[in-house]
Amino acid sequence: MKLTICWLYGNAMNIYGDRGNVLALAQRCKWRGIDADVVHSGIGDPLEPGRYDIFFWGGGQDREQINVSADIQGRKGEVLKAEVADGAPLLSVCGGYQLLGTYYRPHDGDELPGISLFDAWSVAGHERFIGNVVIDSDEFGELVGFENHSGLTHLGPSAHPLGRVRIGHGNNGQDGFEGCHYKNAIGCYMHGALLPKNPVVSDYLIRAALRRRYGVDELGALDDSLETAAHASAVKRASVQR
Ligand code: GLN
Repeated sequence: MKLTICWLYGNAMNIYGDRGNVLALAQRCKWRGIDADVVHSGIGDPLEPGRYDIFFWGGGQDREQINVSADIQGRKGEVLKAEVADGAPLLSVCGGYQLLGTYYRPHDGDELPGISLFDAWSVAGHERFIGNVVIDSDEFGELVGFENHSGLTHLGPSAHPLGRVRIGHGNNGQDGFEGCHYKNAIGCYMHGALLPKNPVVSDYLIRAALRRRYGVDELGALDDSLETAAHASAVKRASVQR
């Protein structure tokens, strides 16, 4: 079996360890004997329907989001939305998460249109939220990561949050929610990278991809003792930050 991981805008939007998510997905496939190809889709690159099994879109500064926002409009955004509507798994972090909503209005400059994959919108606040984040998610349990954003994201009536904030700010520091979860697509403010410390999410994305591509639901267990230790130490560090 082989899975193709599409890394959206990896050259323009890759900060605070986001690259680690692509490495974690590919490695957790390989440890199970599943071939994993990582393919970049950057500014000006097409997005071929049916070619990819998992999508990843990392974070980026306002400056980078300007060109990326323009690039994802039109056919490319429509293809991505159709893939996700068809069950394709996707992980997006911070700036990528924001552009999967309806728009992101940065401090300076024009409002940047998104593609409304998530029923959400984002507006830059006056304070930058920086620090460790711990959330409680019904689907995934306790998740830990690192946030660094000025954008405040608000969820619309049809949006389902990824979890409730225990430590940190999350979507907007007001409503207590972090992230968004729609079909097999996840948006969040959790850099770090997220996946190496939260293998439950990696395996969710890989399992969804295998189910869609091969109709396979089984995923062999791995020895996650290192991941579990990294998770525990990150939660401990976040707890003293409070
Ligand atoms: N530029 C966006 C903001 O400041 C996203 C930042 C990020 O991806 N970390 O909110």
